[in-house]
Amino acid sequence: MKTKAAVLYEAGQPVVIEEITIDPPRQGEVLVRMEAAGVCHSDLLVREGGIPEPLPIVLGHEGTGVVAEVGPQVTGLHAGDRVVLTLVPACGNCYFCHHGEPHLCSTSGAMAAGGVLRDGTSRLRTETRTIHHFNSVSCFSEYVVVPQEGAVKIPNDIPVEIAALLGCAVVTGVGAVERTARVRPGESVAVIGCGGVGLNVIQAASLSGAYPVIAIDIRSDKIELARTFGASHGVNAREQDATPVVQQITEYGVDWAFEVLGNPRTIEQAWELIRPGGTVVVVGLAPKGSTVSLPAFDFISEKNIRGCFYGSSRFHADVPLILDRIQAGRMRIDGMVSHSVPLDELEAAFSRLRNGDGVRTVVRF
Ligand SMILES: [Zn+2]
Ligand SMILES: [Zn+2]
Repeated sequence: MKTKAAVLYEAGQPVVIEEITIDPPRQGEVLVRMEAAGVCHSDLLVREGGIPEPLPIVLGHEGTGVVAEVGPQVTGLHAGDRVVLTLVPACGNCYFCHHGEPHLCSTSGAMAAGGVLRDGTSRLRTETRTIHHFNSVSCFSEYVVVPQEGAVKIPNDIPVEIAALLGCAVVTGVGAVERTARVRPGESVAVIGCGGVGLNVIQAASLSGAYPVIAIDIRSDKIELARTFGASHGVNAREQDATPVVQQITEYGVDWAFEVLGNPRTIEQAWELIRPGGTVVVVGLAPKGSTVSLPAFDFISEKNIRGCFYGSSRFHADVPLILDRIQAGRMRIDGMVSHSVPLDELEAAFSRLRNGDGVRTVVRF
């Protein structure tokens, strides 16, 4: 069948919105009709050439839709089910899955690297070319084919714009606090970058009982928004050097500094913000080939830095837990979506992201 999709043929060039062919789901796969997809910084980074991916490719890795068709040997999903997609369809059968780290699943990693699904092939093509899948999702398309492990069923009454953000921004931000760092009550937190993921880090840190929760950004409107999600303090890094301000608030520096931009310079700055024994958690995805330089002498004060992929999440467990809290009014997503646009306006959404305007743009189908 045909699907209207945003195809990236060449990094640094605009995506092309066009009709392409999508083949039916094969064994263990499902066809999903997309309802909404969030536009994430990682999509932009690929679009700009910061991360090499097999091209051409359909980007998009955060979205929600309705199962339209199931392939052979699919269990637990049926046509008509509402689902949220994940960029890590953990196989359950590799070293990492067996060792309790499904977010690092090597099978999913191999699929993402090859731009293919589990059998090593793509379901997307034009008349003349194979088009690659992005992280087994590729949801800047009216229809997607994903592995059944990549789709989690959700209740029918979850608003589309909330469901759209679950697959990356929410699980990454909440997971960074609750799974990667395991922030405890009373610990101090600084967050560099108050976009879609950063707001989720701030909300989860606040809900974990952290204090202070210091929001750092170069946009005062985002800092004000961060306060509504639980930030106790805000620093506009365009107007002030964040390091002395954070030192003044916390005396020795914070227990946890979350870097959510993927910028080597702000990763280095996060290192300045932590106390002796504190930890930098790098949540942002940095361009491939970039490097970070840290003063090695600081290791004498037991400073730590650690990576964080996808909030160390256990997607199939975390999505229901997060939805329960949203439905109980203990956590909120509304206010994180700043723009809602049709697929034809994806490039405008990329421009906004590049300029730091707004928070999350959601593409509606
Ligand atoms: Zn993302
Ligand atoms: Zn695995």
